[in-house]
Amino acid sequence: STKPKIVVLGAGHAGLTTAKKLIQKLSPEQAEVVLVNKHNYHYEATWLHEVAAGTISPNDARVMISDVINPNKATLVYDTVVEIKKDEKRVVLENGDITYDYLVVALGWKSNDFGIKGMGENAFAIEDIDSSRLISEHIEYQFAKFNNEENADPDSLNILVGGAGFTGIEFVGELADKVPQLCRKYDIDRSKVKIINIEAAPSILPMFEQDLSTYAREALEERGVEIRMAAPIKECTPEGFIIGEEKELVKAGTIVWTGGVKGSPILEKSGFDMVKGKVNVNPDLRMPDEEDLFVIGDCSWVWDNEGDRPYAPTAQLAMQEADYVADNIIALMKKEPLKNFVFDNKGTVASLGHSDGIGSIFSGYKLTGKKAAAMKKVIDNRSLYLVGGAKLVLKKGKVRPF
Ligand code: FAD
Ligand code: NAD
Repeated sequence: STKPKIVVLGAGHAGLTTAKKLIQKLSPEQAEVVLVNKHNYHYEATWLHEVAAGTISPNDARVMISDVINPNKATLVYDTVVEIKKDEKRVVLENGDITYDYLVVALGWKSNDFGIKGMGENAFAIEDIDSSRLISEHIEYQFAKFNNEENADPDSLNILVGGAGFTGIEFVGELADKVPQLCRKYDIDRSKVKIINIEAAPSILPMFEQDLSTYAREALEERGVEIRMAAPIKECTPEGFIIGEEKELVKAGTIVWTGGVKGSPILEKSGFDMVKGKVNVNPDLRMPDEEDLFVIGDCSWVWDNEGDRPYAPTAQLAMQEADYVADNIIALMKKEPLKNFVFDNKGTVASLGHSDGIGSIFSGYKLTGKKAAAMKKVIDNRSLYLVGGAKLVLKKGKVRPF
């Protein structure tokens, strides 16, 4: 047929939103929309620190794709992308190939260990539902085991978190809630457990203003999190992290790396030009010199001309890019000019567990404490609303009557 085929790779916030917008704006007669994803579910990547700490269940953070994308309006393919052959307009999947007229690459991110020795083998990473669930199960096992061993290693209860960016801080915030619960459940004194967050930079959360980042550090310390700054991790062994020039070994039974992310390894595998782990795209979100290939979400860098640097990759950014891509593909089909992406920054909020947080919203208005925690839950519910409407918010939303 002459009907164009639009293939979207990945059903994270970037890909799922793109597919949703396309089927809203195009009828099945105008184009075939194909959504390819590794699993038959979408997950809220922004909630994974809670899954990893065990403060929410994995099912709370995921939703069946066929519940939120009408399978009569889009072709849903549950398969793993192996490589993109852009010169042949073909995508190699584990179980077959797929051709396209327009391609949207939205395969998201993976943990980046920057080649630190032993990190890949010895530390857990918060990457997806499976890897996050493994962390909470591992922590709980350390607790369950402790009183059953005669000479239990006291360090086995320690939880070591490498990197105090957003993910590391939000994760230790959840751990500060979870550890007291685990202590009660397994009859272990809270003083036996250390939550240690190690950061190379002289402060945590450098993207926030100093007063907010200080608030976060003090609030976490009050709840029993040890934060060590200006302490670069040099190596990871099965016992813990080796930090600083003195090569100090900090031991723990659970070691988690939250020191940074990079774009999907499929980008490099496909021979794309890589800049710091991602692909630079034009202002219309296409790969340079490509007519029909868009790269969005955590796979690409989009330049912020005002800030004179790329936008920080976030779910908020990914969803806004998705809106532009849907419109730009329709413009290409109609041979109309494409729109350049403009980011509408609604602000940033970081949670520090269930009832604390920090945020900077509406260009500079600062929030801390319960207000920030409540705002974070509003943002999480809004995200669910955009994925699956009011029904999904009622089912999996964060502010529930209790
Ligand atoms: P992803 O969410 O990674 O989605 C990629 C999708 O592609 C997934 O469904 C995956 O299964 C699929 N996929 C991957 N590889 C393949 C393959 N080879 N074949 C088939 N399918 C594949 N951002 C915010 O704006 N606010 C926040 O509060 C926030 N909190 C965060 C908290 C944590 C703990 C983390 C880790 C991140 C947070 N972020 C937040 C960042 C945000 O999660 C990312 O920017 C966002 O997930 C990017 O969306 P994406 O669609 O590009 O990628
Ligand atoms: P990040 O890159 O933001 O932070 C990583 C931290 O690890 C940095 O502070 C860095 O200095 C530190 N680090 C790196 N190497 C180190 C070493 N060798 N030793 C000690 N510390 C080291 O990564 P992230 O926190 O995973 O966030 C990834 C992306 O997801 C970011 O773009 C972020 O904006 C986004 N995110 C947003 C939110 C939110 O908006 N609430 C939450 C989580 C993640």
